Amino acid sequence: TIPIFLHSVVFRSSGLTTLPSILLIGPSGSGKTSLITLFERGTKAAATHTSQTPIAVECSLPVGAVASSDKYRSDNDPTNQTHKKFLLIDTPGHGKLRHHALASLTNPQNLKGLIFLVDAATLSAGDEGLRQTADYLHDVLLLLQKRVTGSKAAKAMKEIPVLIAANKMDLFIALPAALVKSSLEAEITKVRTSRSKGLLDSGIGMGDAEDEKDDWLGEMGSTSFKFSQMEEFDISVEVLGGNVVGGEGPTVDKWWKWISERL
Ligand code: GDP
Repeated sequence: TIPIFLHSVVFRSSGLTTLPSILLIGPSGSGKTSLITLFERGTKAAATHTSQTPIAVECSLPVGAVASSDKYRSDNDPTNQTHKKFLLIDTPGHGKLRHHALASLTNPQNLKGLIFLVDAATLSAGDEGLRQTADYLHDVLLLLQKRVTGSKAAKAMKEIPVLIAANKMDLFIALPAALVKSSLEAEITKVRTSRSKGLLDSGIGMGDAEDEKDDWLGEMGSTSFKFSQMEEFDISVEVLGGNVVGGEGPTVDKWWKWISERL
């Protein structure tokens, strides 16, 4: 199973065991492989990787970005070195392989946060990309919301920061971050409604209010889904724009800052 696979990746080098990790998720084509290659800088592993199984790559914060836990340490403190490193765990984005991504979520290894990468150029109203992305994000957030009933490791993770990284901002048709946020919220509202209707139609939810409640994302009874509704479940969601390739070169400083503040 994937959790075991993740273990083997993490334990292959003893130096990696204590590194904080960031999970990278997102639909196929959103730019995960490109992002890993960019973040990793140097080693070749990511270049040939085909997004079929999760891989963990060791990353280092670029000079200038200081991890928040380092703020009060002196520059000479040797722990500075290790704290600036983190593991980026890549997960497959293909629909059929999604359960791998969801499996690694329930078995976090020193997990500090989750990056959900989206292609901001495929999120216009009516775009199939918007529907698929909202569908996937809905499932990921619901799983995080339900973690209280999950594994011990998942329970131990009290707060879960989620970054929705709106990628491909270099493209003319890309939606700005604020619109990525509102479009996803509107589309997740639809997903939420159709899922609960599906449950009712199948009879699964009948007579069992608790079950229905468990599968409802965000605030019960709300007509519109908002990411802020996840705060009640200790899940903070932020949407920040950037681009991995194209334009005048990579623009990922907002994502770096988000990561550095969580290590
Ligand atoms: P993955 O399936 O999530 O691993 O996505 P890839 O990393 O393979 O990227 C899919 C395609 O999007 C590739 O052709 C990338 O070159 C392209 N891509 C990734 N990031 C960007 C970006 O920021 N801007 C543009 N224009 N293209 C990008």
